[in-house]
Amino acid sequence: MTSEPQSPTTQSTASQPSKGTIRVLQLYPREMNIYGDWGNALVLKQRIKWHGYTPELLEYNVGDDFPDDVDIVVGGGGQDSGQLVIQDDLQARAEQLRELAENGAPMLVICGLYQLFGKFFKTSTGPTIPGIGILDVETHGTDERLIGNVIMKSDEFGDIMGYENHSGQTTLGPGVEPLGTVTKGAGNNSKDGHEGARYNNVVASYLHGSLLPKNPAIADFLIRTAAERKFGTFVPGAPDDDYARLAREHAARRPR
Ligand code: GLN
Repeated sequence: MTSEPQSPTTQSTASQPSKGTIRVLQLYPREMNIYGDWGNALVLKQRIKWHGYTPELLEYNVGDDFPDDVDIVVGGGGQDSGQLVIQDDLQARAEQLRELAENGAPMLVICGLYQLFGKFFKTSTGPTIPGIGILDVETHGTDERLIGNVIMKSDEFGDIMGYENHSGQTTLGPGVEPLGTVTKGAGNNSKDGHEGARYNNVVASYLHGSLLPKNPAIADFLIRTAAERKFGTFVPGAPDDDYARLAREHAARRPR
């Protein structure tokens, strides 16, 4: 990973002793990383530093050893073809991921991995890809592609914004809550106005962009939860939110 330029805030916090290491695992970045979803891991890395902790970024691809001591899990979107490539390996890791989710590990899964964290994705071209059932949701491929900018309201995180592009339409079961209610765009499906899903400390969403640069409240939820689980407490730092604010203002003005 190349190092990014350091802002004055980073330099001042970097001279303080670290409050501890937070390990972020990105699932399947080779196949599941469209529309820059890897940017979510980079935002976590920077904000973990701004909060005075030490980030460690790990990647898990098909056939890798699954790392111990994972504090945050992130996963991105992918083509149906990418989802088919990872499906067997994901099933082999289902138990570990389910255990992490049940134990309260914070996770963010976007689009293609959101679908596969659910019960199944029945693609429009035929095959049904089994999910790992962490989320009580099911997804059916359709001929209609839901594409464009999205804004939703969430009680937990305020306005959430991003970009969707999916043919799968997801319906929520009683075991999950929606992440938000759309005010622009489609979200989970073309019918009920819900976007994403929440279960335990898992946040699932269709939104790319990537999501976290424009939605730092979600990034800080993941970091706070990770710190509280690992160290018993979260002591926030002073993140520099200027760019996030500008990105949100810009995204809010975009047409569908
Ligand atoms: N292939 C899935 C679909 O089209 C997921 C797409 C995505 O991750 N953007 O529904």
